[in-house]
Amino acid sequence: FRMKRAAENEEFVVYYQPKVDLPRKRCIGFEALVRWKMMEGQMIPPDEFIPLFEKNGFLEQLDMYMMDEVCQLLKKWEQTYPSLRISINVSRMYIFRPGFARRVLEIVERNGVSTKQLEIEITESVIFDRSMELFAIIQELRSYGFRISMDDFGSGYSSLNMLKDIPIDTIKLDQVFFQTNHGNTQRARDIVGGVLSLAKTLGIHSVAEGIEEADEVVFLKEHGCDEIQGYYYSKPLCVEDFEAYICRQNADR
Ligand code: C2E
Ligand code: CA
Ligand code: CA
Repeated sequence: FRMKRAAENEEFVVYYQPKVDLPRKRCIGFEALVRWKMMEGQMIPPDEFIPLFEKNGFLEQLDMYMMDEVCQLLKKWEQTYPSLRISINVSRMYIFRPGFARRVLEIVERNGVSTKQLEIEITESVIFDRSMELFAIIQELRSYGFRISMDDFGSGYSSLNMLKDIPIDTIKLDQVFFQTNHGNTQRARDIVGGVLSLAKTLGIHSVAEGIEEADEVVFLKEHGCDEIQGYYYSKPLCVEDFEAYICRQNADR
């Protein structure tokens, strides 16, 4: 099977996209994003294979591999960069399987890194109809020290209700708010401003993603957004570029 062979050949690689801390213009956080680099040199984006892997059950294995790679990298940079944080994506297709949180914890412990350096991004759409189970899983992960981020915030139906009941550390504003091709930029910005002030009131960290334009950065800064992720600052980087990036940043300090 193509997929098994791909895993054996180490065709799945981790890319890291910086999240830039707004007030200080520094970056201590990254999101890990998978890429399928075929032996033939072709690069396949996750949207083209993740839905398939969700169906055939391979995704959990792949994400645990991602987690392991990320932990090894954190270990490698532990001395020089102890404040580094990396977030990883998980899918609703397997987070409800028994023992999920413990499996994640085992990987982190086996690598000897701190759970505090890892953030788990859960897409908002999981909340739909399984909120009690999700609540339990998030509580368990947080009890181990992981940070929890609600990905694609604002894209689903239950965001506000979810904020009331489920303890999370971070919200990631969905990219749709920054896709300005619908001609409703002002309304989108009013909503973003409102969500940011709500986050502040609740003591939740805020991240805006998919940011490509300077005026969006200015707006977000004015409204107290904590971190920005997007092409404006950087595309996702391969591990070599990631390491060059953090070295440069350490040198600038
Ligand atoms: P996501 O978690 O919402 O990740 C953000 C996506 O936006 C990434 O696409 C990223 O490359 C892209 N992006 C970042 N900045 C910009 C920007 O300024 N403009 C635009 N247009 N796009 C930007 P990517 O890497 O193709 O990933 C797509 C989705 O696939 C992710 O959305 C996530 O849901 C999923 N995914 C990626 N890697 C993994 C993984 O390792 N495990 C799981 N379960 N899902 C993953
Ligand atoms: Ca994500
Ligand atoms: Ca997202």
